[in-house]
Amino acid sequence: MDIRCQNLIGGTFSDGAATVANLSPADGAVLGSRPDSGRDEANAAVAAAKQAQKGWAQITPPARGAALFRLVSLLERDAEKLARTLSLEEGKILPEARGEVGKTIRYVQFAAGDCRRMTGITHPSEVAGTLGMTMWRPLGVVGLITPWNFPVCIPLWKIAPAIAAGNAVVLKPAPETPATAHLIAELCLEAGIPEGVVNVVHGDAEPAKALVEHPDVVAISFTGSTEVGLMLEGMCAKRHKRVQCELGGKNPLIVLNDADVGLAAAACAMGAFGSTGQRCTATSRAIVQSGVADEFVAAVAEAARAVRAGHPLDEATTMGPSISERQLAQVLKYMELGKGEADLVTGGTRLGGALGTGFFPEPTVFDHVAADARIATEEIFGPVLSVVRVDTLDQAISAANGVRYGLTGSVFTNNLQDAFHVIEHLETGMTHVNNPTVGGEAHMPFGGIKDTGVGAREMGPDAWKFYAEEKTVYINYGGAARKGNLF
Ligand code: NAD
Repeated sequence: MDIRCQNLIGGTFSDGAATVANLSPADGAVLGSRPDSGRDEANAAVAAAKQAQKGWAQITPPARGAALFRLVSLLERDAEKLARTLSLEEGKILPEARGEVGKTIRYVQFAAGDCRRMTGITHPSEVAGTLGMTMWRPLGVVGLITPWNFPVCIPLWKIAPAIAAGNAVVLKPAPETPATAHLIAELCLEAGIPEGVVNVVHGDAEPAKALVEHPDVVAISFTGSTEVGLMLEGMCAKRHKRVQCELGGKNPLIVLNDADVGLAAAACAMGAFGSTGQRCTATSRAIVQSGVADEFVAAVAEAARAVRAGHPLDEATTMGPSISERQLAQVLKYMELGKGEADLVTGGTRLGGALGTGFFPEPTVFDHVAADARIATEEIFGPVLSVVRVDTLDQAISAANGVRYGLTGSVFTNNLQDAFHVIEHLETGMTHVNNPTVGGEAHMPFGGIKDTGVGAREMGPDAWKFYAEEKTVYINYGGAARKGNLF
């Protein structure tokens, strides 16, 4: 693969101020290059978006939906190319990459359909001869800032509802995964989305900050780390700018004494070691009632040892690398920390040998972890599971809620009352029963609470409303002067 990524500004591809190599996290191979843009490129993209947005907003929502349906067809046509590119530059194994592309297609389809459902309300007025109604207006230019771990899905789950609602966007994708963003940019143009409606500026923090600070950018949708998200949220607040942040997670999987332990352990292993633990919805804590803890730990450790790390395009591989040396260093730091805080059951090192040229951590399980230990409360973003043992359901919920994050969680039980008790008391935006913590469907809202999320939910039927303003209208069709009740 050799993809020379470029910025897309006003329908034209161009290089940035500087260029950097795009390297594979699996073996260091050069996959192409990307612009390392600064503020100038971001500002040029905002100007192009501002110019294009007015015309795009005049196009009817169903016609905008038609453009999105054309994009769906192109995504289907290029699904395998997108999945392989994603696999190579992000490191997730091919089946996971194909899954991400499939989910993206379903989401863009859903957003395209939304273009025929952008309904307001109508209401008879208190005043005779008057109708009250609401309608939705686009915001204008929106900045989208995205992470590397779902580099096809997340940009498109922001682009699709934003342009469906009549906005123009500037996407600032993660610097680690430029090639997928470049392919998305090419497909948006090929789909006939007018020039300047979708702009892409590659780079890291500088162009992202320029978008947040630009007076013509009226809203920011950000997905990434809690640290960066909180900072950008503050910058938006100072500028009275609408903001939506989806941030870190420390997701618990609760296993009660009556659970199907085999089912729970398999779901836990999938959530903990799948995608190398680099999902915001990854399972990083198993909170297990003491009656089944030994059986559970044995099963999940066996699953960890069965993981086959390797090149993500190799069919035998079940786990790819960490995204970068920096990310791997973070995972290794927490492994060392864990050895002082808890019992290491399996893993705990970097994988070497033939994998030494890539960034491969060993799938790792710690047992007898205190609920407030650092490995049980801080986001690691690697294949590291902490098992916290508890005696009661209330202790399980208290341990689960004892972190700053609140994205997703699971409970494994066959007791309906206990399941609903967890649903009601778990401090998360999403809760699963007898299912892994990972996953989300296009038509269901996705997002978290506490330090994980702020602003409107993404995906689901209301996702586009973040990108639109509801206007209230009163129409006097009776012709009489309005009297009384004029507050
Ligand atoms: P990150 O915060 O480092 O980067 C995200 C984006 O912000 C990138 O585009 C990056 O270039 C930009 N950025 C980085 N520093 C910046 C700064 N100082 N100013 C402005 N922009 C800046 O996150 P990441 O490492 O790319 O992604 C991993 C994180 O994303 C994890 O914490 C994960 O939990 C989170 N995540 C959350 C969700 C969710 O829906 N809750 C989904 C996926 C990932």
